[in-house]
Amino acid sequence: MPDVARFSRQLSFSFGDAPLWSAVELEGALTREAHRPVRLTLTENRSVLLSFRKRPSAIEVRLHRMFLHAPVKVVRAVAKGLRRTNRAADGEVRRFMNENLHRVRKVRKTLPRLETTGQAHNLREIYERLNRKFFGGRLRVPLTWGRGSGRARRGGLTFGSYDPVLGLIRVHPVLDRRDVPLYFIESVVYHEMLHHHMGGVPDRAGRTVYHSRAFREAEARYSGYRTALAWEKVNLPHLLRASAELDRARKAKASSSRN
Ligand SMILES: [Zn+2]
Repeated sequence: MPDVARFSRQLSFSFGDAPLWSAVELEGALTREAHRPVRLTLTENRSVLLSFRKRPSAIEVRLHRMFLHAPVKVVRAVAKGLRRTNRAADGEVRRFMNENLHRVRKVRKTLPRLETTGQAHNLREIYERLNRKFFGGRLRVPLTWGRGSGRARRGGLTFGSYDPVLGLIRVHPVLDRRDVPLYFIESVVYHEMLHHHMGGVPDRAGRTVYHSRAFREAEARYSGYRTALAWEKVNLPHLLRASAELDRARKAKASSSRN
């Protein structure tokens, strides 16, 4: 799951160059391209960069201010998305948002130290294999073993997460065990790679949907998908215990290094 809380704060952003549009020009371009009146509101909301609502009189569009810097082809793609009834995310718009997310942060984009060599599993090898197989080797997204500092979801564990601001995949260290099959880690890493690749899609109410139908279909293309789900079901209690142990060990280490 993308870490929404992490980037829902309002932050200033900066582009080195001047914007390509004024708000009025952008609204005009969207209206022309969508063939429908558009009422544009610019936002600095970093959790929802793009949302819209169809009203009888106009389409109300909320766009992050970064779109003032969007090239024409991106604005066209946004307008096309306003006309569409199905919500499959447009690649052009998604790419633009992904590429510019780091600009909406107040702090510099700094990645943690990337740790991919584990005790039992090598994340980099897993990632590269998946990248070749599913993305033609074109995906560029850093990944690391996480610290395993919780964020347990109800009845389970967050095995992987994608941070859209850092563009970083984290994998829970509880999976770095010999008794965790490779296909399970692969399914987790592949899921997060898809988050990076597909981004969020606005639904009819303008909320951002990450696990869209297109996402679920893509996810199921991984041949071990069903086996992985079945394995998780059987082994979750075991993993929860292992994760609690990791947690205790981490806390013990932290307190002993303080004394
Ligand atoms: Zn997810």
